[in-house]
Parts: sequence; structure tokens; C-alpha cells
Amino acid sequence: MSGKVYIVGAGPGAADLLTLRAATVLRAAQVVLHDDLVPQEILDLCPASAQIINVGKRCGSRGRSQEQINALMVWHARETQSQTIVRLKSGDPAVFGRLGEELDVLRRAGVEFEIIPGVTAASAAAASAKITLTDRRAASTLVVVTAHNCRNASLSETVEPSLSTYALYMPGPDYSKTVQGLLESGHEPKTPCAVVSNAGRTNEEVRYLTLHELMSANGIPAPAVLIVGEVAAEHLPRTDGDLLSRVSNEARDPYQHDRFPIHPALG
Ligand code: SAH
Repeated sequence: MSGKVYIVGAGPGAADLLTLRAATVLRAAQVVLHDDLVPQEILDLCPASAQIINVGKRCGSRGRSQEQINALMVWHARETQSQTIVRLKSGDPAVFGRLGEELDVLRRAGVEFEIIPGVTAASAAAASAKITLTDRRAASTLVVVTAHNCRNASLSETVEPSLSTYALYMPGPDYSKTVQGLLESGHEPKTPCAVVSNAGRTNEEVRYLTLHELMSANGIPAPAVLIVGEVAAEHLPRTDGDLLSRVSNEARDPYQHDRFPIHPALG
């Protein structure tokens, strides 16, 4: 039986800002692939028998290429007895976590996966600074942006709407009016979006649509968040075509580049 990959957010680095769901999965983990920013106290939740692999790139360590990380996830899920494989990332894994490529690979390899969100740095930073990110008297938009991106685009180019994701809280109940506003602000009717009701709860519902389709959608339960932008085109792989063949090559022996085997049994 194949294993399942849990993509888990570790939060901003304080162990008690980890979610209970994340802690439950870590306690059951057989393999953990984690980034550098994850503190030891969180890794200590894993069973002593778990294989814990730092795939991070900081602190002068050699780190692993994105391809190796992809291959490790696929290999552990398919070729070993491991049932619970955790890919542990700082903050929220879906915010500047290079998650897109990893999701493409897992989808294409047919590996089951689940994402467990975490407290993102912006939320933690606002709490530390004792400010609100969306004080209604001052702001109705929260922009989460990186000064570093893989296209080497300048910051001013980065905030360009077609390269941006919009997460609209309180988007209903009149979705046609919301869509109208987005179209007037320059979005194309074919722009993909995802409307998520009851996210993370047992009764969650996700609809993938275009803005045009959303215009006439009805019966969307509240509470909901509307995510607008190319990222919502869930079924469009954004990584290049031969990605999976490179993963397959690595996945035959993902430890082939290691001078020092991480795990003697696999070395
Ligand atoms: N997925 C992460 C972000 C990863 S990018 C998240 O959702 O938070 C790494 C960057 O996140 C760091 O360079 C820093 O800008 C920010 N960051 C992560 N942890 C932080 C912390 N505890 N305090 C302030 N910034 C933090």
C-alpha cells in the first residue's frame, strides 16, 4: 500500500504555535522531510523511530535540490513501507513555500497528499507588533509579497495584478457583485478562482471556477474565502514537462548523491 504525504505548516517557529492537527500527524510520522527554519522542539514530537531528514538549504549546509526533495517524497510514499510521510515547512506551507512544484509532482505521480496549514509569518509578525493587518479604518487589502522571486522580477513588477493572488474574505452572499468589482478592476472573466467554504472543517467544500462562472453560481455556503488568480487553476501543471521523468530517475535511488547515507538501511 502506498503512503500518504502530509504537507504540514510548522508555524513561525514557536512550538506552541503549531496546530493540533500538525502535532497529531508528526506523532504518527515515519519519515519527516523538513526545512531549516523548523525548530528542534517541533521535530521532538516525532517518534524516535522516525527518519528525520533536513532538506533545507541554509546555514552553509549543502541542502537538497528541489528535484531531490520531490523524488524523496515520491520514493518514500511508493517504494517503502512508510504510511505517513511529512513534508514540514515553516509558517504556512502554501505561502512562499515552493509548494507548487511539489504538488505538481505528487499529483502526477498519483501520490495521495493532504495539506495542513500553519500560522504564516505575516500573522505572527502582526501579533508581535500588536497591530492588525486589516484595521477596517485604514485598510481593506492585505498584500503578501516577496522581495525574491524565481523570475528575477523587480518588486514593482511583482505586484502586477496578473502575477498576484487575491484572497477575498467575506466574498458573498452577492457573488455577482463581487465578480463585477473584480472585472472592473481589470481581471479577465476567464481568470481562475477557487471558492472555499468551511475550510479545514469536516464539511468543507471547494469549487474551482472562472470568474465568469462564479457570476452565476449559487448555493455557496458561508463562511467562505474566494481565491482569485492563476494559482487557482488547480489542474494546470505549471512546472516543465520533463519534471516527472527527472523525478522518476531520482526516485529510483533518491540517495544516490549522498556521500554519507542518511539512513544506513537505505544507504
Ligand atoms: N511559509 C513561510 C514563509 C517561508 S519564506 C510562512 O508562511 O511564514 C521565509 C521567510 O518568512 C523569512 O525570510 C521571513 O521573511 C519570514 N519568516 C518566517 N518565520 C518568521 C518569523 N518567525 N518571524 C519573522 N519572519 C519570519
